[in-house]
Amino acid sequence: MSASLNAQIAEVFDEPGCDKNQGKSEKERKRGCTKQLSPGSAAGGCAFDGAKIALQPVVDVAHLVHGPIACEGNSWDNRHAASSGPQLYRTGFTTDINELDVVYGGEKRLFRSVREIIEKYDPPAVFVYQTCVTALIGDDIEAVCKRATEQFCKPVIPVISPGFAGPKNLGNKLGGEAILNYVIGTREPEFTTPYDINVIGEYNLSGELWQTKPLLDALGIRILSCISGDGRYNEIASSHRAKVNMMVCSKSMINIATKMQRRYGIPYFEGSFYGIGDMSNTLRHIASLLVQQGAPDDLLERTERLIAVEEARAWERIAHYKARLTGKRVLLITGGVKSWSVVSALQEAGLEIVGTSVKKSTKEDKDKIKEIMGDDARMIDSMTPREMYAMLRDARADIMLSGGRSQFVALKARIPWLDINQERHHPYGGYEGIVELVHEIDRAIYNPVWQQVRIPAPWGDDGGALGVVQAEAARPPSSAPVWGR
Ligand code: SF4
Repeated sequence: MSASLNAQIAEVFDEPGCDKNQGKSEKERKRGCTKQLSPGSAAGGCAFDGAKIALQPVVDVAHLVHGPIACEGNSWDNRHAASSGPQLYRTGFTTDINELDVVYGGEKRLFRSVREIIEKYDPPAVFVYQTCVTALIGDDIEAVCKRATEQFCKPVIPVISPGFAGPKNLGNKLGGEAILNYVIGTREPEFTTPYDINVIGEYNLSGELWQTKPLLDALGIRILSCISGDGRYNEIASSHRAKVNMMVCSKSMINIATKMQRRYGIPYFEGSFYGIGDMSNTLRHIASLLVQQGAPDDLLERTERLIAVEEARAWERIAHYKARLTGKRVLLITGGVKSWSVVSALQEAGLEIVGTSVKKSTKEDKDKIKEIMGDDARMIDSMTPREMYAMLRDARADIMLSGGRSQFVALKARIPWLDINQERHHPYGGYEGIVELVHEIDRAIYNPVWQQVRIPAPWGDDGGALGVVQAEAARPPSSAPVWGR
């Protein structure tokens, strides 16, 4: 790895805003956040993948991957980050380097690709992603981007995060470094207001940002830029004029928040848009920080009034599901840090949480889970697919909420499953989103397909393969419901 990349990695690992990092010894911190791979378990994305995930939701720029075509193929548009306008971010651009480029270098090909994109699409900027192969052959992406910027009078931004640098989470932060070093602070907004905020680490998955934006609009709070969901290049370039930064849940791009605080004096807080209580606390936090930064005091009172109305409306809508969902058991494997954010809303709908994952939770998160769910709460640090299957099959859960990786375990156990991780198709943000979540749980549990698939197959379900003659004998009369009818 180049010396500059090494230095950058050391810098993002030494993150003052990350409690976990600060809790480590000097030696542990040097080792970084990479966990040893364990045989048989999935490895997750590479650093390039992480940078691409973090930046691809900037919707009006061209994202050009300098590497073999598979790197782009693996990372392209896999998270349903939504755009309210430009669609350029969904076009996959890659230099698709070949054996000759490996021998002679790929810099000329990269330069030509940038020129072609600018001539054909004229985006406000081009983001160029380094990958393992182009880093190993020593292509100087920063120099090519600098020359292209000068020649085409258009920002061409190098994103130095080759796959081998580390895991996805590191890549998120290295993507953030590219934004910090080349984008933020390079433009001025047309105007500013005392109510300007940035939202950092929000990717507008399935349009979730649009469930919370109307609440901010109602209070007169302006999202000066969102980094990066439904983001626009010029907005991010002028984001240094915001009064407050909100860091959404995951600490994926905490380095942007801490460095903007240092460079531009913008205070930040970490908040969540998930769950009724958390949404209200986030609104309160934004309002109080804006008032501290000079916004008129009446914002606090207006915020409380809005919260009272929205909370009452959300609880009332959730209560409609109570009769149908009371006593239904949920296994919550979120993989995210804030599983408790949604727990109280699920409980309000009558659902019983039989277990929740705490793999990525801090001690405070765990205490909070205990407080909400009581001492009986089963906290699952890690669960093998086999254990998960056994738990579901023994009918200790009526539905599993998890990420796509474990969906087949639930389907094999013939238990309803709902995707609540980053690949989800439904937005679950804000008050609106939590009602949507309860609605989707209801739809999944009462989907008639479960009655169908739980009927034993007529020709030997668990008993192994039957011979053709036996199978025919075992076939039920034509009036009986069978699989596929
Ligand atoms: S590990 Fe390297 S080669 Fe594989 S997808 Fe990531 S950048 Fe590309």
